Amino acid sequence: VQADTLLEVNNIEVIYNHVILVLKGVSLTVPKGGITALLGGNGAGKTTTLKAVSNLLHSERGEVTKGTIKYRGEDIHERDPAELVQKGVIQVMEGRHCFEHLTVEENLLTGAYTRKDGSANIQQDLELVYTYFPRLKERRKSQAGYTSGGEQQMVAMGRALMSRPETILLDEPSMGLAPQLVEEIFTIVKDLNEKEGVSFLLAEQNTNVALRFAHYGYILESGRVVMDGPAAELRENPDVKEFYLGMS
Ligand code: ATP
Repeated sequence: VQADTLLEVNNIEVIYNHVILVLKGVSLTVPKGGITALLGGNGAGKTTTLKAVSNLLHSERGEVTKGTIKYRGEDIHERDPAELVQKGVIQVMEGRHCFEHLTVEENLLTGAYTRKDGSANIQQDLELVYTYFPRLKERRKSQAGYTSGGEQQMVAMGRALMSRPETILLDEPSMGLAPQLVEEIFTIVKDLNEKEGVSFLLAEQNTNVALRFAHYGYILESGRVVMDGPAAELRENPDVKEFYLGMS
């Protein structure tokens, strides 16, 4: 393991309902300080990979049947998600998952639930979230269920930040958002990466935007990594251009 490696997924297989083999030996590495993109079409296995890491497959009757998952060299396979949050790894699920009846600010505060370092620090982090997401500050008293899709994506990301993560697993942040908002969200990801040192593993169908903001990419097809490389190289690769960037 290299000193700067945070997450190391090695040759994992995932099976749903005891029979459906969905990941067929996926390996990937997330270095400290990087934005790593997991790309591929609908059903390629991106969400399954993230959920395997954060141990969220059980409720979907999925299990990792082969391979290893390590964080900072330590085996984290089957760790309780709350324990992973303590270790600095948190997932932002696809589809935002806000508490709709709570206000924006109450949603953000739920993200601090694993912390034991006192309300002054939590208040300080809330302010930090608001500096990255000024829209959330404006809407902090609004009921989350009545905010826009883009704002809910920001709430989900802001809530994750409240746990002071080292690594965020971000599932399909662009989903259902207008291009300008997608740009806004990815710019915030880049800022968080550069200024706060947060590392990202992000799953995206929008190859174009992901490869502009990520440092490194993995392309999944039918549960296998078919290509990986620095984002700048993938952007220039003829197959990626033809099949994923739509401009052969
Ligand atoms: P999407 O962008 O649609 O989320 P994805 O690349 O994230 O795509 P996954 O959601 O990981 O893909 O799904 C990979 C495959 O696993 C798909 O064929 C999907 O139908 C299947 N799958 C996902 N969840 C389950 C489940 N709970 N039970 C059975 N099969 C599932």
